[in-house]
Amino acid sequence: MSDTKYVMAIDQGTTSTRAIIFDQHANIIATGQKEHEQIFPKAGWVEHDAAEIWVNVREVVGQALGRASLQNGDIAAVGITNQRETAVVWDKRTGEPVYNAIVWQDTRTQKICDELGALGGGAERYKDRVGLPLATYFSGPKIRWILDNVEGAREKAEAGHLAFGNTDAWVLWNMTGGPDGGVHVTDVTNASRTMLMNLDSLSWNEEIAGEMGIPMSMLPEIRSSSEVYGQGREKGLLAGMPIAGILGDQQAATFGQACFEVGHAKNTYGTGNFMLINTGTSPVPSKNGLLTTVCYKIGDKDAVYALEGSIAVTGSLVQWLRDNLGIISSAPEIETLAASVEDNGGAYFVPAFSGLFAPYWRSDARGALVGLTRYVNKGHIARAALEATAFQTREVLDAMNADSGVDLTELKVDGGMIANEALMQFQADILGVDVVRPKIAETTALGAAYAAGIAVGYWSGEQDVIDNWAEDKRWTPQMDTDERDRQYRLWKKAVTKTFDWVDDDVK
Ligand code: ADP
Repeated sequence: MSDTKYVMAIDQGTTSTRAIIFDQHANIIATGQKEHEQIFPKAGWVEHDAAEIWVNVREVVGQALGRASLQNGDIAAVGITNQRETAVVWDKRTGEPVYNAIVWQDTRTQKICDELGALGGGAERYKDRVGLPLATYFSGPKIRWILDNVEGAREKAEAGHLAFGNTDAWVLWNMTGGPDGGVHVTDVTNASRTMLMNLDSLSWNEEIAGEMGIPMSMLPEIRSSSEVYGQGREKGLLAGMPIAGILGDQQAATFGQACFEVGHAKNTYGTGNFMLINTGTSPVPSKNGLLTTVCYKIGDKDAVYALEGSIAVTGSLVQWLRDNLGIISSAPEIETLAASVEDNGGAYFVPAFSGLFAPYWRSDARGALVGLTRYVNKGHIARAALEATAFQTREVLDAMNADSGVDLTELKVDGGMIANEALMQFQADILGVDVVRPKIAETTALGAAYAAGIAVGYWSGEQDVIDNWAEDKRWTPQMDTDERDRQYRLWKKAVTKTFDWVDDDVK
């Protein structure tokens, strides 16, 4: 191992794209970051401009290299991590996307999902093979929507001209040459979010792709999360550099948090919340509303699987209070507003803006703010909004305990919302287990950096990840059990008020 080189991670996230350069001890040497436009053409639709994202990737790579005064030769390997499920379809001949990327939060594919379920089996139709319920969240139905709705797309797809990828594959293909020899590859973790991959064999399921009307020629080759996929394109900022790691963002955070043993779990608090628990080398089916997914696969070693609880809206509820209601002017300001009151004043806020994900998977749900009286003010609403994150996390943790048969004893956390200390204390109170924050909070980018660095021998393996991990702060439960149970019971009641809202004729 040499100290003179660094590893770069490109984190293509939901709201921004970042490039982070790490040294061998996982210290951050430099960062570049740029937000991209969130496009909301209709209620329930969320899009990104994939071409803008690719421009931003190049810009943030330049920023990071420039700030650290490094040349591409100083980088031992590049890893990619990304918003998962978001579907990009582009023309391989020109490199042009045929439509905006359809983002994971987008609910336009509900009808497609209902029609597929009606073929038999309902929402569980593909679950035994792909580990996922039929839901608007995943990529497959989004590809189908593009082929059905973009003029000429299906013909081009059938002629073999179109490619699909989550943003990892889009970025990799462009980084390795685009129309000029770009490598069309994804990793097992991203593939496990499409509804098109067999969890057991880690290969595409042709029958499901056929039912969804997706030509196999569009799909990227599935590889491990840690191997050299290709080199940075000639004349690019990373010319000749090995691109050697890909992990979906939540799997990357799980890796960066060193969750390598069965039963180890982490929870990421970002736009949404995502809790993953390592279940070892065979997939465990969920009976309690969790997803079965691939956690990581290092080169030729066996794949490691996880159970995942995905929550669509947590941090984005704070953004909604800022952007749509205007009761705060920045996200951290919610802390002051929430601290202006003693408690939630009886208000419970269930942010079912995209329906409810884990553990309910209710696409017919919509948001509700309940328990309102003349007493409730904006401080209580801020408080209820923060508490919603903690209550939703408790529901996922309960599901994990039930599925795995073992009770989690502590929870490693990361993501933007963990800066909020009052929220972390409330989280420990509502879970009844310790909540632990690591010293290096950039676990997502770090996980991708590790996957790439391990592939080229910059790090020797998982032990280096464990050695670099250190605890920063721990919150211990302080609420008494009766109070915890009372509040959680009211939350559960509030959730039931969101069900059955969407009718067929909803606009
Ligand atoms: P992502 O990677 O999903 O884009 P981040 O991990 O960067 O998200 O987290 C950002 C989220 O954290 C935003 O949704 C924001 O509203 C929320 N957030 C940031 N600071 C605070 C805070 N002090 N209290 C509560 N939420 C916060």
